[in-house]
Amino acid sequence: MKNKIEIICHKCSKDNTVKLFEQSNCKHCEEEIIGKKYIRKPWILIPTTLAVLSGVAGGIYIDEKIETDRYPISIEHSIVESCIHADGKVRNKKYVIEKKEICVCALENTIDEISYSEFKNENYKFTTIFSQQIAKCD
Ligand SMILES: [Zn+2]
Repeated sequence: MKNKIEIICHKCSKDNTVKLFEQSNCKHCEEEIIGKKYIRKPWILIPTTLAVLSGVAGGIYIDEKIETDRYPISIEHSIVESCIHADGKVRNKKYVIEKKEICVCALENTIDEISYSEFKNENYKFTTIFSQQIAKCD
């Protein structure tokens, strides 16, 4: 299931499972479907918190750059989790929800500046920018 995404063809409205980063055509009507705007099926969690943050419900643009620059989901999840619980205190639900928004916002902005290979090789750089972004998003 990795790197695959379920989308609804914008022409015939039928479901397709396509691989990200590959040229694909609709299995039903042959319409080209990568690089255009699609309706992503809402229960597919893969990419991107970007869509959620910017309030785009249901429609995303499959942009190769955004997708390839993402960190693995598990890594992003760990970053956000440790960001939320950075001070080690037990917090109420409201705090966690608010803090999560800030952490996700900071992570999105940081990913724009720090590629995954930079993240792995120059962790201090990530940490510096991530802290700055937390201040901005707060
Ligand atoms: Zn189609």
